[in-house]
Amino acid sequence: ARKFFVGGNWKMNGDKATIDGIVGFLNASNGNPNVDIVVAPPAPYLASVKAALQHNIKVAAQNAYKVPKGAFTGEISPAMLKDLGLEWVILGHSERRHVFGETDALIADKTVHALESGLQVVFCIGEKLEEREAGKTKEVNFRQLQAIVDKKVDFSKIVIAYEPVWAIGTGKTASPEQAQEVHAWIREFLKEKVSDAVSASTRVIYGGSVTADNAAELAKKPDIDGFLVGGASLKPDFVKIINARN
Ligand code: 13P
Repeated sequence: ARKFFVGGNWKMNGDKATIDGIVGFLNASNGNPNVDIVVAPPAPYLASVKAALQHNIKVAAQNAYKVPKGAFTGEISPAMLKDLGLEWVILGHSERRHVFGETDALIADKTVHALESGLQVVFCIGEKLEEREAGKTKEVNFRQLQAIVDKKVDFSKIVIAYEPVWAIGTGKTASPEQAQEVHAWIREFLKEKVSDAVSASTRVIYGGSVTADNAAELAKKPDIDGFLVGGASLKPDFVKIINARN
């Protein structure tokens, strides 16, 4: 069975006071031993959030570069995240792809390096609205995945986040049926391109306007193994999303 995974991607939000509040409601919850809970604060707060969180809630970075150190002003490396005791990094988020122009090739190199450095990776994929409307949903998601399949990555250290770009921050959640359809395609892709075992064991989580109100219906779908939550992860309702499948 695939353990349910709920990630909170805080993006570029929060300050010391609001982050204290988020850590407070997470610690006041009981955690959930049946769920892998991972939150991704902005980089300046990684160490303090890691130190403050209880209940085995893990901390992820929202990005990391493809080499351990050097003259790369503004970047952070997987080695630094490991040095802080972190276990996870989010890579390939649509905002990295579409606001900052990250390519499939760069994201694949970052993924390889993060894994080599001992981090686990939440690897994000997803089509834009015009791609969906042009009937290219499968093609786009498969192309984004193929970039890491080509690198022979260890999928036991990867969680795939399907985040349709048109559903991110828009309040337009994919319906449970729309999400399930793509999750099933991703699983078929893994079966064909990697192996039956990887297809069966890799967690594929959904992201895009997940809320406490829609999480339970999405979580019932057989190929939805959790969520990557943006806006709602900043609010106490995030605890309801963590517990959506129980
Ligand atoms: P929202 O939940 O705010 O739509 O963001 C989703 C997301 O991008 C998580 O990585």
